[in-house]
Amino acid sequence: MADVDIKDSPFDESPIVPNLLPGDTEISFRCHKDIKCFNACCSNIDITLTPYDIIRLKNRLDMSSSEFLNEYTVPFEFDKDSIAGVKFKPVENGTACQFMVDEGCSVYEDRPTSCRYYPVGLVSMRKSDEYNDTASYALVEEEHCLGHQEDRKLTIDEYRDEQGVDVYDEMSRGWRQLILKKKSSGATIGKPSLKSRQLFFMTMYDVDRFRTFVASVGFQDSFDVDEERMAKMLTDDVELMLFGYDFMKQVLFAEETIPLKEGVKAQRVKEEKEKIEEKQRAAEAVYSPDFEPTDI
Ligand code: SF4
Ligand code: SF4
Repeated sequence: MADVDIKDSPFDESPIVPNLLPGDTEISFRCHKDIKCFNACCSNIDITLTPYDIIRLKNRLDMSSSEFLNEYTVPFEFDKDSIAGVKFKPVENGTACQFMVDEGCSVYEDRPTSCRYYPVGLVSMRKSDEYNDTASYALVEEEHCLGHQEDRKLTIDEYRDEQGVDVYDEMSRGWRQLILKKKSSGATIGKPSLKSRQLFFMTMYDVDRFRTFVASVGFQDSFDVDEERMAKMLTDDVELMLFGYDFMKQVLFAEETIPLKEGVKAQRVKEEKEKIEEKQRAAEAVYSPDFEPTDI
């Protein structure tokens, strides 16, 4: 099963038919247990997980997000030295999904976005407006998938509806937008620091660890989050995930999405000023007008 979600150009190294299709496009497709290729798509996987996919799966499996990441995923970078994503880790020494069983998918009700969409791919494109993306679709036609030869016609919108992807798309919109913005602003804003990348990883994928961070004294002393929202975040994974999207806008793009507490802002400004002055002093030392090459 090929992964077909976020790309500026979705067609490199992918089996997607290179056409952007609107939702009312009619396709011919049916997947069922008696089809000859049953489970073929889950035997060779390349599936990127969204933050919401991880929450659904780790809760279904009654694990912490750290345990889930450790056991079922591998990290990858969207671009070199940039923010990371996570993919499903296949079975040991193989390419099949760890959740595939003879009867099909053992986590079917909570299967990830890419599995729901297949054989349709979501193609998110960022428009000039920095956060608003537009969605089009592409059709993935892999040789092993015989579902395309079945006699059932429906539109992409009907297929999305049947597969219940709407809530998944809605829940991962903030994550997709962060990635698209980061990808397209790379050279302007520069590579994120290691600390920002680590924060992104924890905030997006390791929600239980992010909760510990948000509950820490350091965080509570720095950010001004109203009590009701904070109480919800500390008990509700999805609320915390949505807050995480805002938090990362602040970390990656310096947007003031979460107000700082009184005094903290002034302290940050003071620290920034001191850093700039220190750099100036260092530069002045290098460019000394008294310097004579003969002094060497
Ligand atoms: S999660 Fe389920 S549908 Fe997705 S690849 Fe694994 S077995 Fe297949
Ligand atoms: S029809 Fe396609 S999606 Fe369904 S089991 Fe076969 S390969 Fe997988």
